[in-house]
Amino acid sequence: MSRWPTLPRMCLTCRTALGDAEGCDAGAGHEAVSPADPLGSERLRQVVWGSPAVRRRAVEHARGDSPSEWLASLMVVAAIVLTAATTTFLYAGPLIAGALGVVLVAAVSAGKARRWLRAGAKQRLLQPRGAVDGQAGNDAGVVRVVGEVELRDTRGRTPPFGGADVVAYGLWVYARDELTLSECATVGFDVRTDNGDLLRVAPGRCRIEPVPPIDPDEVGSRVRRHVAARYDREDDAGEFPLIPVDRHAVAAVRPGQRIEVVAAVESRPDATAAPGDYRSAHPSLQVAIGVPVLRLHHSRA
Ligand SMILES: [Zn+2]
Repeated sequence: MSRWPTLPRMCLTCRTALGDAEGCDAGAGHEAVSPADPLGSERLRQVVWGSPAVRRRAVEHARGDSPSEWLASLMVVAAIVLTAATTTFLYAGPLIAGALGVVLVAAVSAGKARRWLRAGAKQRLLQPRGAVDGQAGNDAGVVRVVGEVELRDTRGRTPPFGGADVVAYGLWVYARDELTLSECATVGFDVRTDNGDLLRVAPGRCRIEPVPPIDPDEVGSRVRRHVAARYDREDDAGEFPLIPVDRHAVAAVRPGQRIEVVAAVESRPDATAAPGDYRSAHPSLQVAIGVPVLRLHHSRA
């Protein structure tokens, strides 16, 4: 039985998960890296989160221990002490209580302002950057085949992140509305056209269109685990995971579903066609070459 393909590479531009040694369908303008190797992983982390210096500053801001934070704290404390001393010196007596009250209010406000500034800085610095460009394929020499999905030598498989059996799945992952992963794969299936012809789709990577709406629910733990297991070793993900995730969308292709396949094809005689079958008067078997595009007709079933 076919297994899900491993997709160890990723396009830095459209965040498409790619096969081993494979380039992005969009062409040379989209650079792909192998996050399993340290250089590729750092390239991707920089694209998502910024340079090491930017990340270090973000961490310092989050902890409140950057030099400017210390200076700010020192100035606030100095101002408070100065105010308290001056007030006490000038108005020693009944006014001391009032002055101390003012000092207390000032100290609390300063603390609040500092926390507010810090939260703002963290928010700005830690915003992940997602895909900047949709994946566009090369449409030269492709045909469009519309038909019904048939099982071949597999009963379908449950997707790597769980759920009912499918012959193909698409997973799109988002963090703060930025697309951070697009992963589509198939275990292989046939498409039976209305005139009886067969289009064979081999196991491997595919593209699924259109991207379904984002699931309004929080991402489940199985999707999170699958995404983390792709590239993030537990010890190095930390605060800057290569694939940040807070929302996702899923597409499924199942037997009996009507779909459109857009792919370059190769014709072969269909050795399995039953002679005399009225649907197979001119049986031909077409095999999709390269990365097929599976167009779903808006049914998310
Ligand atoms: Zn790309």
